Amino acid sequence: MKIVIDPTKCCASGECIKACPEKAITIVDGVATVDHDKCDLDGLCIPACPYSAVSYEE
Ligand code: SF4
Repeated sequence: MKIVIDPTKCCASGECIKACPEKAITIVDGVATVDHDKCDLDGLCIPACPYSAVSYEE
């Protein structure tokens, strides 16, 4: 399982970045991007996104 961010929904608001305790998310080319080596899958970024762009993927 991993965290994925839908680039068609992401508006680079940065809310997921603020919510992530692992500092696993950065904005790359205008889209939030997850560093899967840092992500611990706590899911805090999912409800933090105002655009519902973040989800778990099997
Ligand atoms: S699941 Fe947790 S650690 Fe992973 S990117 Fe989201 S907030 Fe950060």
